[in-house]
Amino acid sequence: MIPFADLQKTGKKLFGDFGAWAFDEWKTLNEAFFNGEIIPGEIIWGSTPNDRSLGYYSATENLICLHKFLMRPTYPTNDLKWRFRHFNKRKAGDVLLHEMIHQRIHQTGGWVGETSHNNERFVEEVNRISKLLGMDIKARVIEPGTGQGKTSCPVEPGCLTLGQLIHFPYASRSCNYYYDPR
Ligand SMILES: [Zn+2]
Repeated sequence: MIPFADLQKTGKKLFGDFGAWAFDEWKTLNEAFFNGEIIPGEIIWGSTPNDRSLGYYSATENLICLHKFLMRPTYPTNDLKWRFRHFNKRKAGDVLLHEMIHQRIHQTGGWVGETSHNNERFVEEVNRISKLLGMDIKARVIEPGTGQGKTSCPVEPGCLTLGQLIHFPYASRSCNYYYDPR
């Protein structure tokens, strides 16, 4: 296991303030939501497969990738450069937390189910963490339907949809949450 301080030093060398921030945030989130039990790995800024998501966790490498799109300013600014001070730390922090759920699940036995999001363990984590975040939401594993269409996956009333599970917690934040700079 590579010591956290060494990982952070490398992150800072590669990605400057963004790299240092990612490790500080990871550590804070690990203490706040996982009793500090997640084993640290690399955190990089780059692209995700087909740019389909804002984050990505590689279980084989114990590596979290945050999409470089997260570096861009989210609220209006005259300065269009992607500077550290304009970057939306709330959004990036939520993406990091999401990837840490995958990291934690992988490090504690993995998951069995339909997908990495639609399974008992991920859903359990969503319910546990949303409570800590003060969110009034409920998640359940969505039973796969018999048909092919998306509508054939019935979601229990009041429960998160598959899209909301895939984009937890950011899909469940109030609409102005990310526009309140920190
Ligand atoms: Zn995910």
